[in-house]
Formats: sequence, C-alpha cells, structure tokens
Amino acid sequence: MSESTVQGIKNVPDYFGCNVFNEETMKQRLPKNVYKSLLKTKTMGTALDPDVADVIAATMKDWAVEKGVTHYTHWFHPMTGLSAEKHDSFISPTDDGKVIMEFSGKELIKGEPDASSFPSGGLRATFEARGYTAWDPTSPAFIKDKTLYIPTAFCSYTGETLDKKTPLLRSMEVISEQAVRVLKFFGSKATRVTTTVGPEQEYFLVDKKLYDQRKDLIYTGRTLFGAKAPKGQELEDHYFGNIKTRVHDYMTELDEELWKLGIYSKTEHNEVAPAQHEMAPIFTTSNVAADQNALTMEIMKKVALKHGLVCLLHEKPFAGVNGSGKHNNWSISTNDGQNLLDPGKNPKDNIQFLTFLAAIIKAVDENADLLRLSVASAGNDHRLGANEAPPAIMSIFVGSELQQILDALETGEMIKSGANEEFVIGVEALPNFPKDTTDRNRTSPFAFTGNKFEFRSLGSSETIACTNCILNTIVANSLKEFADRLEGAADFTSELNKLLVETIKKHKRVIFNGNGYDASWVEEAARRGLPNYISTVDAVPHYTDDKNVKMFEMFKVYTKTELESRTEIILENYSKVINIEALTMLDMAKKQILPAGMEFAKELCDSVNSKKSAGVSADLEKKLADKVSALNAGISEAIDELDTKLIGAGDAGDAEATARYYRETVFAAMQSLRAVADELETITPETIWPFPTYGDLMFRV
Ligand code: ADP
Ligand code: MG
Repeated sequence: MSESTVQGIKNVPDYFGCNVFNEETMKQRLPKNVYKSLLKTKTMGTALDPDVADVIAATMKDWAVEKGVTHYTHWFHPMTGLSAEKHDSFISPTDDGKVIMEFSGKELIKGEPDASSFPSGGLRATFEARGYTAWDPTSPAFIKDKTLYIPTAFCSYTGETLDKKTPLLRSMEVISEQAVRVLKFFGSKATRVTTTVGPEQEYFLVDKKLYDQRKDLIYTGRTLFGAKAPKGQELEDHYFGNIKTRVHDYMTELDEELWKLGIYSKTEHNEVAPAQHEMAPIFTTSNVAADQNALTMEIMKKVALKHGLVCLLHEKPFAGVNGSGKHNNWSISTNDGQNLLDPGKNPKDNIQFLTFLAAIIKAVDENADLLRLSVASAGNDHRLGANEAPPAIMSIFVGSELQQILDALETGEMIKSGANEEFVIGVEALPNFPKDTTDRNRTSPFAFTGNKFEFRSLGSSETIACTNCILNTIVANSLKEFADRLEGAADFTSELNKLLVETIKKHKRVIFNGNGYDASWVEEAARRGLPNYISTVDAVPHYTDDKNVKMFEMFKVYTKTELESRTEIILENYSKVINIEALTMLDMAKKQILPAGMEFAKELCDSVNSKKSAGVSADLEKKLADKVSALNAGISEAIDELDTKLIGAGDAGDAEATARYYRETVFAAMQSLRAVADELETITPETIWPFPTYGDLMFRV
C-alpha cells in the first residue's frame, strides 16, 4: 500500500483519502456512463441502475486488490454496538483448482449476515424476519485491515429496520422533500436539500499499563471507584493547554489514519478535564458523518493501543471532573449551494432564513421529549443535568441579535438596523443582521452558532445516527405544516407573516439565552412547562407517545412496532449496563478493596500488639485500626446490600420497570458502596491500595 512516506515526511494531499473509493477514484476508474449513473444516485437519491452494479463491483475490487485487499465486508450499524461486519474473501474457485478474485454487483448491493443474534426488541421473534444488508452508495466504501468495507443499511425481510442507518437515510429524504416545498415559495430552484453534520468528539487517554490494573475500566469503560485526586480541573489549565508529546504523537498518527480514510479531521485540542481531549472534523452529509464518526471512534481506540494508551470514549470515565460529549453541529443546505441556516444578505434571503429558524424553534419545542431521548443512555445520564454538560431540559439559544429580531417580528415593532434606518420586521423588509453572534453561549443544549445549530447533549460513545434521524424528522414535520398552510394561502406574504408571528408566540418558551447550568433555570423551565427528563428511564418511554408514533408513521421513518422495539432495546441495554457495573463493583469490592482494607487493619493491629508488648503507647495505631475496621464493616454491609438489590432486579417486571429498578434501587446501592470504599482509599497506604488511583490515571499519561 502506498503510504506516501519519505523517511517520516508525509504529504497530506498525496495520501488523503488513499483508502477510500472516493469520487476521484471512481471518476478515474469507472466508465463514464457508469460513473454518471452512480453520481445521479448519490446526489439525487435515485435508485441505482442494476446494470451498472457489476461494473462498479469489479472496479472496486480491482482497486482494492491492488492495495493488498483480500476480503470485503458489508459494514452496518445494528441496534447496539457501534458497527458490525462479517468478512468474505474475494476468492472464487476455477476449473483448474486455482482461484480468481471476484466480486459481483449482487454481492456489492446485498448481503445476508446471520442476524439472529442482534438485538431487535422482539421484532424478529414476532416476524421471524431474517435480515439483509443493502449498500448505501451515498457513503463511500473504504479499506481497513486489508478488507474492503461497504457501508450498508440493515433491514429485515419483512421490511422492519434493524439498524440505526436506515431511519437516518429515510429522515434525510423526508426533510429534503418538505424543505424543497417551502423553498419554492421563496423562488428557490433547489430540488433537493441535504442535512450536514460536523460532530466534535471528546475522549480521554489513559496509560494502558494502569488501565490493565482496573477491572472497572476494562469491563465498563468508566471508574466505579476512586477518591478524588488532590488536583482536578479547578485550575482550568488543561483546556486548550499545551499538548504533551506522547499525546501529540497520538494525535498525529490519529490524523494520518483518519485522513487516509478520507475523514476531514481538522482540530485537535485538550479539553477541560485532565487527560481529556477533542477531535473536530469538517462537516459532511449526515449519513457520511455518522459512518465516519463510528469509524473515528474505532480508529481512536486502535491508534491509542499503538502508543501504549487506552482511549476512553465513555461519557463519564471519572467522577468529579467533566465527562465527554459529542457536539452535533447541524445545518441544511440545498443542491444549489445555499446553507439554509445562514442568514442571508438581502431581505428575501433573511425571511427565508427566519422561516427555517421558526420551523426549528417549533420542532424543538414540540419534540423536546424526542431530542432528549435521542441522547439517553446509562453513560450520558452521568452528564446531562450535572454541572458540566447541557441540562436535561431542552432549550434553544439564539443570541441577542436574533432575539431582537424575533421580538420585533412578534410585536410588529420597529427596530433600528446598523445604518440607523428603521424597519418593520416583516415579510417586506428586513435589515441585514450580523452573521456571527458574538455572545457565545456554552451552556445551551441547542445553540445557534451563526450558520448552524450545535446540539450539545449527545454522549461521547453513542452513534450520532439516531439523534440526527430525529432532528431531521421533527424539522421536516414543522416544514410540512408550514408548506401545507402556505400552499393554501390566498396571499402568501401576509400568510407567512401571520404564520411566523404565531409560531414565535407559541413556541418562544423554548428559547433561553441565559445560563443553562443555573439552578434557577430548572424552576424557570418548569414554570414555562418545558419537560425535564432527568434520566434515560424517564425519557425513553416517550418514544411511543401518540404524537410521536403519528409523526414517524406519517413520514415512514419508523412504524409503531419499530418504535416499540427500539424503546425496549434501549431500556434493556440500560439495565444490562448497570447490571455489569454492579457486578464489577462487587467483584472489585470483594476481591480487591475489602482484602486490602483487612490487610491494612491487620497491619495496624500487629503494630498495636508489638508496640504494647514493648511498652510503647499505640494510641495512634489503635485509633486508625478502629477507623479502618469500621470502614471495612461498612464496605461489607454495602456489598451485602448491593448483592441483595441485584437479586431483586429479576422480579422488577417489564423492560421499563426493570430499568427503573436499576436506576432507583441498584444504582443507589452502588453509590453507597462507592462512598465507603472511596473513603477507605483516602487513608490507605499506596502500597496496599489494590489499583491505580485517580491521580495515577489522569496525571500519568
Ligand atoms: P465554532 O467556531 O462555532 O466551533 P466551527 O466553524 O469551528 O465553529 O465549526 C465547528 C464544527 O461545526 C466543525 O465540525 C464544523 O465542520 C461544523 N460546521 C461548520 N459549518 C457547518 C454546517 N454548515 N453544517 C454542519 N456542521 C458545520
Ligand atoms: Mg467542544
């Protein structure tokens, strides 16, 4: 494989995308008519002409084989886990007992992994549906580990979706259709819109040797025990701080690996917590961004191992310092090159922008439940609502300039433009408003940032596919209502004006430009009637609320059955995660922490005895021995309690009741066990404590 490496000096443009079957490669290698046909599929979303599939497959295979590839896989995203793959080789036997490398259009387009072991939330049990994977030609194939990866969607033969990709693709169609309807009113010639996403990915790096000594990190990805280190993030010296050489080497190799895969890794920096970092890519089409983010997470972990590090993608690896999220920068652009969330330069563009803005405000207000549940997971429960990530209450930040315009629009008042001219905000005239809002707000879950929205509530380890599917669908729903109303209007201008004023009046409660971390916001939000779903268990059951079923079914994004199955999968997964965490805690407490505590107590008692027999005062040792014994007893009790509570989970009931039991009962018992164990850690000698501490993990990279 050509690495474009000359003694360590690499020319990025030479190797960028070298492992991707990208536009350039296709253009070079495919016959013109085949290339055109594929391009049409990619840009217009039309079905792929079956005749051309064979040609594409053979070309893809030749390209891959030249790079040393022997296998291909349909790469998909089942309901749990990030991605799945089953590798087949290209070999095909010949009459003379030899083989040739072959890959047909049929193999490219459709695959049949044995789906029976993927979670389906009762779907396959109900329908006995077997699953198949279907090529997504809009996301490019790539080479990794001598294998050709073909991005696919995963469905059952009876039509239910079994993955996270298919609904995302559907939602992109739906928003395109509705946005084009609305755009027509403004004289736009666009025939298609695409949603774009730039997901900023946060992560932690810890030393592999230390990691290997902690069962909690190995089994659960987060620390289940650990007293605070003397230093945390209080000096705020890590954010954008100097990058350590070892970490820098990691980032350099990570960039190279991502670039080879055509991923536009753009920004790398240190984050708020010690040992926390971030990578931000340049945005791309939603489904490609979802695929690339999944790939990015995988590469992050692999590259770390090469550097003797482990990359932690968990939302909350350490208590007491910030957790990791994923900022989902989202926008919509037309196929004639217009970013619909970019306030325009003239009144016509501005009113179009305000129409889309109003649709988004309405969507977020009406579907705060869906946005909240789209980011719900056991890991993210540690972040949302804590004083670091956005709160669990969904609200929109628009900034003061835009707020002024919305206010004026609502009241029909005059406002002054920069040039000191007065305008009545309405359909006829709008001043230019500044594109870049300077008052950046870091606490809002859903913030307007000049030409896009930044949804900040996503967890670091989850796929972005579900969130973007929901985001696209709810905005499509607003746009549909707008289009329905405007299409029937006698006078477009006055109807649009009315529509915008009404929408803002009705949904302005979801706009909040203040500090989202402030305790008073929780009360204020309650007064405004905004939902505040604290945990996964509170949020996820709303998936199947009537309004949501109706909307998803209308747009054919999900059926009711699919929503039910997804709800069950998420809740079951939640329970399983807490169960694994509880078992890991018990294991560590019984086999490592308590034995260490008892060893320490014995050491102290031995010392008391020997000092006493020597006639020396042993008051200090005695006092400490009493304290350690008491803590040991506390740990032992907490172990018994957690054991008992865990057994009770079996009788909790259905998926929702079980998840609630884990949240309210098991999780509470885990917290109690942790509290005593962490206290013991603070007085136990380092030589006896059985595993690396917070200080070791966070400051010894
Ligand atoms: P900020 O200064 O607000 O962080 P940046 O321009 O640095 O904004 O972008 C942050 C992230 O937003 C990047 O991942 C970037 O690619 C992404 N982004 C920028 N424009 C868009 C867009 N139109 N659609 C989606 N994401 C975008
Ligand atoms: Mg960030």
